[in-house]
Amino acid sequence: TNDVGEKVSKEELLEKDRKYVWHHMSPHNENPMIIESGEGSWVQDIDGNRYLDGMSGLWCVNVGHGRKEIAEAAAAQMMKIAYSTLVQSHIPAIELAAKLNEWLDGEYRIFYSNSGSDANEVAFKIARQYHHQNGKPTKHKFISRHRAYHGNSMGALGATGQAQRKLKYEPLGVGFQHVPPPYCYRCPFGQTKGACKFQCAQAIEDAIVWEGPDSVAGIILEPTITGGGMIVPPDEYLPMVRRICDKYDVLLIVDEVICGFGRSGEKFGHQNYGVKPDIVTMAKGLTSAYSPLSATAVSAELYESFKEKQAESHFRHVNTFGGNPVSCAVALKNIDILEKENLIERSSHIGKEMMRRLESLLDHPHVGDIRAFGSAIGIELVEDQKTKVPATAERVMTIIASCKQRGLLIGKNGDTVPGFANILTLSPPFSTSDDEVAFITDTLVEVFALNNGKG
Ligand code: PMP
Repeated sequence: TNDVGEKVSKEELLEKDRKYVWHHMSPHNENPMIIESGEGSWVQDIDGNRYLDGMSGLWCVNVGHGRKEIAEAAAAQMMKIAYSTLVQSHIPAIELAAKLNEWLDGEYRIFYSNSGSDANEVAFKIARQYHHQNGKPTKHKFISRHRAYHGNSMGALGATGQAQRKLKYEPLGVGFQHVPPPYCYRCPFGQTKGACKFQCAQAIEDAIVWEGPDSVAGIILEPTITGGGMIVPPDEYLPMVRRICDKYDVLLIVDEVICGFGRSGEKFGHQNYGVKPDIVTMAKGLTSAYSPLSATAVSAELYESFKEKQAESHFRHVNTFGGNPVSCAVALKNIDILEKENLIERSSHIGKEMMRRLESLLDHPHVGDIRAFGSAIGIELVEDQKTKVPATAERVMTIIASCKQRGLLIGKNGDTVPGFANILTLSPPFSTSDDEVAFITDTLVEVFALNNGKG
């Protein structure tokens, strides 16, 4: 039914969709699924077909669909006050900033925005201004990694290390230098996992040295590269990067847009490695995507230099919707659910269980590697296990379509050759039961069994 209660046919909706909606990423999707409702780990389309949402939307609906208590928290806040700027303050923004400080190890000031991209833009501007007013005005560059994704806006896309997303939109924000990622399965330095000298971390130091330490403001990284192909670093990597940052007065910006809020099996991904970032950016799981909200958490030490009374040291950045009271109330309720239902431990359990149940796939001729960070999993598809030639697009699409036919939605990502994603991704809601985990893994095992030929 439409908003005036009339019945609308699927054909009518599709016709309007084709005529008026510009889809993200896939403009030629002539026959999109029209999702109508969701409950727990499942979504339902307008034909009544149910699918297990194996990607939590876009790695974001961490607490699962259909949470009435979140809807009620949003409605209650809307009735009180739906909007107030953060030039002043309001209760949900204050309570949420305090709660995020409980979740982060250390003291941070919280700057609110609307999306992950926004949160990263804020991080870049704060980092540059910080160095500027700290007597090092030439520090302006950022180091990032090939394959990383940090957002769609000109700065965040500049930080992104994937050519296929950047071509046609260049020039982007300037000053972003990329280094090879800690990709042990395809080590960019030709090394073997467990027997290397962490040249991937050394590459960051080399980049800083050769760009000139006086020109480098920060490094931005995800604890594990997620959208760029589930690239899980060795345990030593992040602590090494932290030490390099300290040596050259370079800020460590950790992008927790996907890894945060339990996905990694800890509250934040970096907590798995015992490092303390200077800036943490977050979005997605902050509200489980029930309402748009992001945040840039800035360490209290950094914030010191923005506290002066003179206007020159103010952070001249405002956005209308950032820290919207309804979104902050939603985030508070979302975090409350994560805590009360022990969903972070649940995420860790789901990840381990999926890995255990998928282990047999490692023998499949087209599976090169399976990697997990908490409950985010990547299955790297190859044409041949020995040569590691990436699987063809056709093979990847066949597996995704077969899963969908059986009621399981999964993702693909991490182009090994730019423009060509060969890594299947899973990132289910933490509400997923053990039976549903079995459904995910059994479906995958069955679909792979049907696709084990050479053709
Ligand atoms: N950083 C990371 C690691 C992301 O995965 C994304 C989005 N997938 C972003 C930033 C950008 O977030 P948004 O789409 O909300 O702008």
